Amino acid sequence: MSKPVLDHIGIAVRSLEAVKIYEALGLTIDHVETVETQGVKTAFLSVGDSNLELLEPTGPQSSVAKFLEKRGEGIHHLCFRVDNIEEHLARLKEQGYRLINEAPVRGAHGCRVAFLHPAAGNGVLIELSEKQ
Ligand code: ZN
Repeated sequence: MSKPVLDHIGIAVRSLEAVKIYEALGLTIDHVETVETQGVKTAFLSVGDSNLELLEPTGPQSSVAKFLEKRGEGIHHLCFRVDNIEEHLARLKEQGYRLINEAPVRGAHGCRVAFLHPAAGNGVLIELSEKQ
């Protein structure tokens, strides 16, 4: 099994207009996608081998809307790309880490993703993602 790589850093924003600061830095949007199941509109900007994922909530029920209410805009999660997401989830669960998704769900780019509970990551929300 290969080592996970940092696929992207998720940043919660009230509006994708927030992309402006990154465009001012010379980055460009590669991909925009609404992920209904996660209640977010996303914009991806590549930065070398990794990416930024801006997350705008699609409605008040979105977990990102709740995050914004509680903590304001800012870094929301880290996403590690793995090559066998089920294996990782099973091992993490066995080791007693709290998972939000015990089985992968559909994420942006058609990836299969799962979130660990922030308590498992010392306050950092961790996402695992496997490319299809
Ligand atoms: Zn993400």
